[in-house]
Amino acid sequence: MENDTILDLFSQTQIKQSERKAPLVIGTGATDTALSGPKVKYQKNGLKKKMLRRETKYIVIHCSATRPSQDIDATTIDNWHRARGFFKIGYAFVIKRDGTRETGRGIDEVMASNKGFNNVSVSICLIGGVTENDIKIAENNFTEEQLKSLDELLEELVEKYTSAHIIGHNQISIKDCPSFDVQSYLKGKSFSEKGDDISRDASPTKSITSEDEKKF
Ligand SMILES: [Zn+2]
Repeated sequence: MENDTILDLFSQTQIKQSERKAPLVIGTGATDTALSGPKVKYQKNGLKKKMLRRETKYIVIHCSATRPSQDIDATTIDNWHRARGFFKIGYAFVIKRDGTRETGRGIDEVMASNKGFNNVSVSICLIGGVTENDIKIAENNFTEEQLKSLDELLEELVEKYTSAHIIGHNQISIKDCPSFDVQSYLKGKSFSEKGDDISRDASPTKSITSEDEKKF
């Protein structure tokens, strides 16, 4: 079902692209100089922005590595990531300190947060994860509301991506992110049968890359 949906979305994207191109081809015969330049650039960016994943092997949990007192949101992270050269926020979901779930990039788009795995993963970012006094020190300081919201989201994602493993960013990267042991956290959760140790098959995928991934 997942593949069908993605293929379907992918076809729609293709159709939209060709529709947008149509006037350029069968229009009034305007010269290239009149229509090239910004128009072509826009189409190129449009394609990249809509780049969809073909499969979802991992649901990756991150943290924003911000102080617990910093009540930031998806818009803040979107600004940060754009400043780093991304097209937009690199995560699909953000969970604020009060547990509010916000959406980032499209759920089926290639991510820009899991180096080497961006084309086979979907990302969630919990706000927080470092100590108040020193942002270099990781700390599991997520609120009850955030974890409740995380569980609800994971339950939905496991339903959607039935063969995906739930992992922490630190399982595919030498980082503290998300500042807690995801596999321990998942023990006993009703939705966690799919989430397990991926060390047996984790290896960065190199087949598809996106501009975002290259920049990450
Ligand atoms: Zn991370």
